[in-house]
Amino acid sequence: MDVRIGQGIDFHRLEKGLILWIGGVLIPSDKGAVAHSDGDVLIHAICDALLGAAGLRDIGYHFPDTDERFKDIDSKILLEKTIELIRLNGFITVNIDSTVCLENPRLSPHIDSIKKRLSEIIGIESTRIGVKATTTERMGFPGREEGVVAIASVLIQLV
Ligand code: MG
Repeated sequence: MDVRIGQGIDFHRLEKGLILWIGGVLIPSDKGAVAHSDGDVLIHAICDALLGAAGLRDIGYHFPDTDERFKDIDSKILLEKTIELIRLNGFITVNIDSTVCLENPRLSPHIDSIKKRLSEIIGIESTRIGVKATTTERMGFPGREEGVVAIASVLIQLV
């Protein structure tokens, strides 16, 4: 069995008056992500993990933030394109695990919706997708609510 592991990490600044997308779900929040795209930190970390596992560079290489085509783009489209890219290279996704580090709001009421949305886009059962939430207990930039972090690990299989 030819399996490959990948990891991805992403960060976005948070500012008042912007919207907050996490894992393809709109999260009610007084702060949102500053970004060239819609700033979906979790989807970006997952895309990077998938691309890394497949040996296909990273999200910035395929979808540069200097390219006007990706201005304010829905990150769900970036994930669809990433899944298509790894599929064209012969891979299927076995499972994904991830953690979002955000002080406020608490993500736990949204975890099931995020898992469902990701499973629809990726085309695997939601039981193969882990989404966890943590805070930094008020330490550092996530703790000061200045930013959000997401980390993802994936396993893909050459079929
Ligand atoms: Mg990003």
